Amino acid sequence: MGSGFQITVVANDSTEANRDIDLAIKEISRIEKLISSWDSNSETSEINANAGIKPVRVSEELYGLIDRAIGLSRLTDGAFDISYASMDKIWKFDGSMKKMPSDEEIKTSVSKVGFRNIILDPANKSVFLKAKGMKIGFGAIGKGYAADQAKALLIRNNVKAGIINASGDMNTWGRQPNGKEWTVAITNPLNKTKAAAILPITNGAVVTSGNYEKFVQFNGTRYAHIIDPRTGYPATGILSVTVFAPKAELADALATSVFVMGIETGLNRINQLPKVECVIIDEKGKVFTSDNIEIDRI
Ligand code: ADP
Ligand code: MG
Repeated sequence: MGSGFQITVVANDSTEANRDIDLAIKEISRIEKLISSWDSNSETSEINANAGIKPVRVSEELYGLIDRAIGLSRLTDGAFDISYASMDKIWKFDGSMKKMPSDEEIKTSVSKVGFRNIILDPANKSVFLKAKGMKIGFGAIGKGYAADQAKALLIRNNVKAGIINASGDMNTWGRQPNGKEWTVAITNPLNKTKAAAILPITNGAVVTSGNYEKFVQFNGTRYAHIIDPRTGYPATGILSVTVFAPKAELADALATSVFVMGIETGLNRINQLPKVECVIIDEKGKVFTSDNIEIDRI
């Protein structure tokens, strides 16, 4: 998935541990093949290639993932949308942008985005992107899904405890060999050598979204690299969003969504979801948390 996975298992010896880790790696590679949009032979690429042309029959697994992704779009009022992938790349975060794009350009850039145009046929297990030029991509949910699947596979293989770390997206189960809970540190975006908070996670996932380096600034407003698929405008005001959830797939998707929804709407939505919590750090380094979370501020 273009980014490093790190797998930790608790095992009796290194042979057993290596066997378990190999299993997890194979599972992650399998999922990568399914959801990759740069591999032209993947089911995902086939769906994209047939946008505006015809429905494509896919595996039960990919169908299920797309179905859940559309559910997340509904849950977030479209802040999360796998059809974001057709957006024109008018925002550049490499220093090359000299002025704000026009309102017209921004509007046009998202004209092919819209989860309501992803048509699912449950009887045929087919997926149809209604408009020509539409595209789906799993950048904000795929790593989480792969981490959940790898964890489930290891649990089925009697691995008692471990961590799947998908480049910072953590998914844990069981406890450390000394009986203590696993703990995670949330980086302080304004000072990366310092943790903003340290929290225990026993059986669940914690995912952080936010890239503190990638942004552009116009007229004193800082525009982040995560773009609202409904408007074409980048998210503003937030530096990082960390979401805790029982599953990494949900945490991954929601972290990106809260970024787009903003602090108030994001926290409201998270507070309505059972077993889901979040920590938001804004541009000034101020920390906001959902209702049922206690963090040790450092
Ligand atoms: P990262 O995994 O890079 O730390 P995220 O989990 O927030 O960060 O995912 C960002 C990626 O998600 C983007 O690179 C893009 O592929 C995809 N994406 C961006 N905006 C959206 C959106 N609104 N809905 C769904 N996917 C998105
Ligand atoms: Mg995400």
